Amino acid sequence: MPASKADVVAFLKECSGGELSDIMRQALANRPEAAPEPDAFEYRLFLGLAVHENIAPAAGQFDWAPWRLAAVAYLNPDSYRQDFSGEPFCQWGQCDGCGTKVCSHVKDSLCPVCGRQVLLT
Ligand SMILES: [Zn+2]
Repeated sequence: MPASKADVVAFLKECSGGELSDIMRQALANRPEAAPEPDAFEYRLFLGLAVHENIAPAAGQFDWAPWRLAAVAYLNPDSYRQDFSGEPFCQWGQCDGCGTKVCSHVKDSLCPVCGRQVLLT
C-alpha cells in the first residue's frame, strides 16, 4: 500500500539532500512529461533551485541581486553512497557537455540534462 500524500510530503521536507536528489533522479526521468516526441523533441524534467543574494553594504539593509537559476545535479553513484547526505545545495558549476548551470549537495555530480559528470566548486 503506498504511503499517503501527507507522508510523502513530510518525508520530502525532512530527507537529506542526497535522498532528495536520488528520489528526483528516479521519479522525474520517467514521468510522462519527460517522454520524448520521436523525431521532434526530447525533454528533461528536473529539480531546480533559484537563489538571490542580499548585496547591501551593511547589515539590516536589503539590496537583492537578480535571481540565479540552476538545475539540481544528481549525486554521482560512482563516488558516493546513495544515502550520502552531503551539504545543502551549495556546490555550483556548469556542465561542460550541455552548458546547463547546476548546483548540488555534492562536488562530484551528474548533470540532470545530459547525464555527464560535473565537478562543482
Ligand atoms: Zn549537461
